[in-house]
This record gives sequence, C-alpha cells and structure tokens, in this order.
Amino acid sequence: MATGSAIEWTEATWNPSTGCTKISPGCKNCYAEKLSKRLKAMGVKKYKNNFEFTEHPDDIELPLKWKKSKKIFVNSMSDLFHEKSRMEFIASCFHTMIQADWHTYQVLTKRSHIMAEFSNYFQTYFGDVMPPHIWMGVSVENEDHVWRIDELRKVKCHTRFISFEPLIGPVGKINLKSIDWAIIGGESGYKFRDVEEKWILDIIKQCKKQNVSVFFKQWGGIRPKSRGRTIQNRIYNEYPKIKKLKNFLKDIEFDEKLFAQKCVEKNQKIKRPLTI
Ligand code: SF4
Repeated sequence: MATGSAIEWTEATWNPSTGCTKISPGCKNCYAEKLSKRLKAMGVKKYKNNFEFTEHPDDIELPLKWKKSKKIFVNSMSDLFHEKSRMEFIASCFHTMIQADWHTYQVLTKRSHIMAEFSNYFQTYFGDVMPPHIWMGVSVENEDHVWRIDELRKVKCHTRFISFEPLIGPVGKINLKSIDWAIIGGESGYKFRDVEEKWILDIIKQCKKQNVSVFFKQWGGIRPKSRGRTIQNRIYNEYPKIKKLKNFLKDIEFDEKLFAQKCVEKNQKIKRPLTI
C-alpha cells in the first residue's frame, strides 16, 4: 500500500492485484501500464510480471495494518474485476474492507458487468449489500460507455460513483439516478487527448440538476497538474454524502472455499466459473 497519493480525490492506494488488459478507448494511454514497466525495470518484485494480471495474496490484509483512517483507492495499478480475477480472491479483498472499516474504499472498474455479477455473490455470502464505506464506481470516458452507469446501478451497494476520466468526448444526456458522486478529469501525459470545456460543464450541469456531488480533478495536459483544476473561477471539491450505518458484516468469518461453495449452491446462473 502506498501511504499518500498524488491523486487528488484519494489519500492512499492499495493494490491487491496488479496488471490489466486494455478494453476501451479510455485505456489507450494507461498510466498503470507505463508505471508497471518502469517498476519492473527498477527490479520491484511485485511487478516482475510487468502488466500481466497478477493476484498478490500477501497484500490482501494490508489496510488492517494501517491504523489511521484514509480514503483508499483500490487497485490504482489494475482492475479488481479483471476477467482473470477469481471471485474468491475479490471476495477476500472485500472481507478486508469490511474488517478495516475505519477506512473508506474507492473501488473503480471498467468491467462494470463483472462488478455487478460479483455483488450478487457478495450478497449470497455476506447476506447483505456492500456497506456505505465501500464506494463502488465505474469509468466513463465518452458517450459510447455511458451504459456502464446502468450496470453500476445493478451493483448491490450503498455508495456509487462515476469517474469521467480521461474525458475524451461528450457524454450526452445521462441518467444519474442512485449515483452519489462524479469525478471529472482531462487526460494527462505526452500523448494526452485534449478535453473540451463544454463537455465538462455539461456533466457538472447534469450532476447539479440530479443532486450528485462533483469533484473536478484536472484539465490534464503533459503533466496532471499542468493546467490546474479551476473551471469558470471555481474549484469543485465535493465528496458523496455517506450514510452512517452499523457494520453488521464485521462478525462474519471468511473462507475462500466456503464462499465458492455457497455461491454455487445458491446461484444457479453463474456466468463466470468460480475455482472449485
Ligand atoms: S482498465 Fe484501467 S488499468 Fe486496465 S488497461 Fe484500462 S486504464 Fe489501464
């Protein structure tokens, strides 16, 4: 886990898995891919497989060791819901998030259908939806990927967010029902694709109309902070309003094998096989 993060909307990163595969235009200049290559070249053991999806079981319990409350971005170097990620492994990560409930977790994916599917398994095992301190989010880079918001609404959880970053096109009219938070940001890096002000303002306007908190992260440019984060003389620094609920799931013990068995027993329509 990295304590401290340059990403404005979080405070730390935790990578129980690393590596990924590009699946949509937002992935074109993936920062995690570049950084993985650099870390491998530097001899960092965790990145010996470069950008190949890899589970790191030794890192699953890291947030439990971090006593001070933080906002934690889960998997800044991967996608927790990657096709190669075992459902039991994902569930182990969620068990840690349930136990270390003094933190807030920001779980972001482009594989919204797998996230939604996993949330069914989660409910089967834990007997409830994901608690409010675990924020579930999808990335939407342009109009062609707005459908991920509908998938996000299927995720059985309390807190939902959208990351419109890197914003590479307009998103059109969006339904933000049951969405709590939106992050907006232009692309950064040498090959950045420029964001237009009207695309950003259109999202902000729709968020305000539909009562969604807004965090405008950056304009983007060669460096993330090249052009700041002020838009029309304003900085949008809002966070979602979170329900305060007792965490009843904390007493539930977790076992990967039992998780897989319970899901197979209860769920007749498993699309992705578990590993039992
Ligand atoms: S989903 Fe995220 S981590 Fe994976 S390739 Fe795309 S941008 Fe990179």
